[in-house]
Amino acid sequence: MNDIRNTIKPQVRALRAYTLSPHRASVKINQNENPWDAPELIKEETLRRLTERKWSRYPDFVPVSLHRRLAQFAGWEQEGIIAGNGSNELIQALLMVTVGTDKRVLICEPTFALYRQIAIVLGGEVESIPLTLDLQYDVVRLKAEIKKMRPDVTIICSPNNPTGCVISDCDLEDLLKDTPGIVVVDEAYHEFAEHSVVPLLRDHENLVVLRTFSKAMALAALRVGYLLAAPDLTREIGKALLPYNLNAFSQTAAEVAVEMYESDLRPLVANIISERERLFGELSLIDGLSPIASRTNFMVMRSRIDPKRVFDELLRRDILVRDVSAYPMLGEYFRASVGTPAENDKLIAALREIFV
Ligand code: PMP
Repeated sequence: MNDIRNTIKPQVRALRAYTLSPHRASVKINQNENPWDAPELIKEETLRRLTERKWSRYPDFVPVSLHRRLAQFAGWEQEGIIAGNGSNELIQALLMVTVGTDKRVLICEPTFALYRQIAIVLGGEVESIPLTLDLQYDVVRLKAEIKKMRPDVTIICSPNNPTGCVISDCDLEDLLKDTPGIVVVDEAYHEFAEHSVVPLLRDHENLVVLRTFSKAMALAALRVGYLLAAPDLTREIGKALLPYNLNAFSQTAAEVAVEMYESDLRPLVANIISERERLFGELSLIDGLSPIASRTNFMVMRSRIDPKRVFDELLRRDILVRDVSAYPMLGEYFRASVGTPAENDKLIAALREIFV
């Protein structure tokens, strides 16, 4: 009999699905979320604006009022901004308009798994440069590969998920100058690095920057992300989006979050940054555990004990971390996001117990 799966592209059938374990725990530090919920003021103002709006009507075809706020917030022109249903959607839209058979995509691994996944689904050829042994960007190899391979798209996650490393502006500018293609910088965690490459957009029309509301902005449940690039590029990328990709609820919440960022969200980010440093210091003192310094709201740790066992031991203590041991180079590592001070205390105490 005909196997219906034969209708699926062979490169898709060969892929493993991008999944997440369904475990639950009261200390949930497995997804790099903001441990602090969106502030009440943001929720209340969002609900107030939504109550005044007709729910029977479609959202804006182009969410210009959000784009306008984002332009001011990020310091880039409104015509060069696209908001979407999470930055995942924008990664997909961007790759849809650039990648197909015979197109070359360059990434560095370990990194966020979705880039490779989507590029492969679209029929692209993915080339990957490993990070250095101390889990930093291997800029020398990256530059050499760009010259050799002439990729259509290069994707750099900076700061990187899951390792927390960053690429310097100076190295990035070299890549931007040397490549004939687009360079995408995924800045999902830029607030925690207190650095952005958005100022480089002005001089580099092949730079695309991705950002999200799912981390520092504390709105992961609402799925909002945005992309910044030259207007000539955003016009093309926009063609791959579905109409009304951003629902009115999410759009409104994102507008309110941008308006209230300085007063209500930035203090939470500052707390996470200082907790990250405290956590790093405390965990470094545990024998058998070596956390890697990170510019994000999470860190990977090299573990003398099998990371799968550490994951189980932590789960028994009601703490959920991310087992990243299947990622390239990370066989001995697990990842934990920075929680609230109380959650971090629990993690530190639990790891001290496990690593006696
Ligand atoms: N980029 C990176 C580097 C991420 O880690 C994540 C989420 N884990 C995303 C993008 C996706 O973010 P969003 O929720 O905006 O789709």
